[in-house]
Amino acid sequence: SKFSDLPISQKTLKGLNESKYIKLTDIQKASIPLALQDRDILGAAQTGSGKTLAFLIPILERLYREQWSRIDGIGALVITPTRELAYQIFETLRRIGNHHDFSAGLIIGGKDLKFESKRMDQCNIIICTPGRLLQHMDENPLFDCVTMKVLVLDEADRCLDMGFKETMNAIIANLPPKRQTLLFSATQTKSVQDLARLSLKDPSYVSV
Ligand code: AMP
Repeated sequence: SKFSDLPISQKTLKGLNESKYIKLTDIQKASIPLALQDRDILGAAQTGSGKTLAFLIPILERLYREQWSRIDGIGALVITPTRELAYQIFETLRRIGNHHDFSAGLIIGGKDLKFESKRMDQCNIIICTPGRLLQHMDENPLFDCVTMKVLVLDEADRCLDMGFKETMNAIIANLPPKRQTLLFSATQTKSVQDLARLSLKDPSYVSV
């Protein structure tokens, strides 16, 4: 199956084409059609499986469908364990989202909170690491994600292994309950299942 067979916008298709993404990987085949129907997903997927597009495409399509514009605030949050992964996701989003008019931002620390906060102004899709995201929720009065529609928990097992369990729980408690959540994890440990129970609603299980 090809990206051009999916019910997605020309804007996303153009971005995918320009990055030479033509055929879907297995995890993309299994999860994108469900995610496009706003389903929650618990995906078992390794790094290298193509899971990044499995969540970025549904995010772009959701915001596009809702006619999101730059002034509409945060529409999607992607939480990933490390800065390096956050950069990679951000770069992929920049490429495939090139024809959309959304703005994307990173919340990964390394700069002071005010600096990060300024650049986040009018961001629609935020890629972040857990500790820094919670810090904005706690300390930055300008940070507001009541508008968000899609939450992605990327490499959830690694987040938990790195000691972010309480942080993730606190983040989830701060988010609007009416949202779509996509959780990806290479392993399905008890702590991943706990996080899934806490964050997902009637999820589809996708394993490849
Ligand atoms: P990921 O697992 O998302 O980190 O992706 C692993 C690598 O596979 C990255 O270099 C992607 O650019 C590449 N990739 C993801 N999806 C596809 C696809 N459908 N066709 C070709 N390459 C892909």
